[in-house]
Amino acid sequence: MLKKKVIIIGAGFSSLSAACYLANAGYSVQILEKNDTVGGRARQKIRDGFTFDIGPTFYWMPDVFEQFFNDFGKSASDYYQLQKLNPAYQVYFGPQDYICIADNFKAIKDTFESIEPGSSAQLQKFMDIAEDNYNIAIRDLVYKPGEHLFEIVTPKTIRKLGSFINTIKKQVASYIKNEKLRKILEFPVLFLGAKPSNTPSFYNFMNYADFKLGTWHPIGGMYEVVKAMKALAEELGVEIHTNSPVSKIHVKNKDVIAVETEGTNYNCDILLSGADYNHTESLLDESYRQYSLSYWEKKTFAPSALLFYVGFDKELKNLSHHTLFFDTDFEKHAATIYDTKEWAEDPLFYASFPSKSDHTCAPKGKEAGIFLIPIAPDSEDTEIIREKYFNIIMDRLEKTTNQPVRPSVLFKESYCVKDFKADYNSCKGNAYGLANTLLQTHILRPKLKSKKLDNLYFTGQLTVPGPGVPPSLISGKIVSDLILKYHINEAIIRPVKLPV
Ligand SMILES: Cc1cc2nc3c(=O)[nH]c(=O)nc-3n(C[C@H](O)[C@H](O)[C@H](O)COP(=O)(O)OP(=O)(O)OC[C@H]3O[C@@H](n4cnc5c(N)ncnc54)[C@H](O)[C@@H]3O)c2cc1C
Repeated sequence: MLKKKVIIIGAGFSSLSAACYLANAGYSVQILEKNDTVGGRARQKIRDGFTFDIGPTFYWMPDVFEQFFNDFGKSASDYYQLQKLNPAYQVYFGPQDYICIADNFKAIKDTFESIEPGSSAQLQKFMDIAEDNYNIAIRDLVYKPGEHLFEIVTPKTIRKLGSFINTIKKQVASYIKNEKLRKILEFPVLFLGAKPSNTPSFYNFMNYADFKLGTWHPIGGMYEVVKAMKALAEELGVEIHTNSPVSKIHVKNKDVIAVETEGTNYNCDILLSGADYNHTESLLDESYRQYSLSYWEKKTFAPSALLFYVGFDKELKNLSHHTLFFDTDFEKHAATIYDTKEWAEDPLFYASFPSKSDHTCAPKGKEAGIFLIPIAPDSEDTEIIREKYFNIIMDRLEKTTNQPVRPSVLFKESYCVKDFKADYNSCKGNAYGLANTLLQTHILRPKLKSKKLDNLYFTGQLTVPGPGVPPSLISGKIVSDLILKYHINEAIIRPVKLPV
């Protein structure tokens, strides 16, 4: 008997995850990816012996990755080697003024206590709540598809109602007085794409991920995870076609029947898209789209970013694998991203030097640097602006870390709004999808299942549960469960057995 055929648009983390689950459930799965490699926003750049992750660099929530591989009788260690980073990261607040976050909670508490007497006990209380929230959120809620509100109304969440109204910013301030320590506790929710003052305190489960679960690094970089998922997908029989941009979705009687790429039509029984949501809908005739342009206009997008990938001809000092430059006013910077939508005069930035802990990322005696400034989606993007901000970053790097760096730059490549649009069909050039604010959570996010077409589904950082690599893996799982729920009678389910 012929297997039912699923076409998946895009080969980002969410699509690769869904492809594995659906192939394992017995579907014939084909991925169509517009770029020449898989990975989506998490692709890799290799130049002159340097290796850079183009997108994600923080490997948080190792339990979510492990669960993904366990679902196929595998372990992450079957594919890549993980290293726990110590320090997890370093945060600069001014010239030679920094705090390092260690790889264990006891040492982190000691750091807090040395800066604000009494704060370690406060941090413990804060972390107990964060742990409770993590167990509720990551072990349960985020795996709900967002079809009905009652999925997340449980005795456990009802007793947490207050934490959906309170914000992270207020909660942190109620435990800790020191401004630097407050900034460190507010940092993890930036991964959710919104301001701490606009993020429910329930999301402090990100602090548990940060301080208790730790920051990890796959040797070779995050792209090793992409390679692992591609390998697993192919072991399960998934066919991947790169250089295959989908340009049109064909519909008949409320069902997608085929997608069109340059020159080839692919028939399908089910279509799943991991490409940016509104781009996918733009491939449909207007009457089949669920969300109008004004809907997207009103949404809070997570930031876009200006990135630089830099090869240095020496090892840089006073820096860690992950280093945050919080030496300017975050509130002012955040206002430019979410309110005025202008370029910040004095932006915060993040830098990653993977070669600090992984010699595969740069030639011996040299350093690979990745720099990221969060900016408003759809910011003006010109070479002059990119150059201006490169100079700002280099000045700050030199001042805060007390060393000349400019003369050591071998090369630099930049990446910004125009590239996000051109490479990923990203709405407004967003980097991280749709922010996880209270009004953009769960049922209030764009749906995994089309309301207009019976066999069209969506996955990825613009839908449920939200931005980030772990949520993308989860998104792939929950959309696959949804497909099985609605199409189980049509499917010829023949679970594929992997060699152990
Ligand atoms: C700079 C940056 C830094 C980040 N840092 C972190 C981090 O440290 N830790 C973390 O957990 N997360 C991080 N993230 C977020 C994380 O990378 C994303 O949430 C995740 O990779 C999104 O995966 P996705 O599958 O939803 O989408 P994508 O990766 O965008 O995949 C969508 C795919 O669809 C393809 N596509 C688009 N249109 C078409 C078409 N018409 N036809 C065919 N294919 C198409 C695209 O080319 C792309 O490959 C970062 C993101 C960025 C950009």
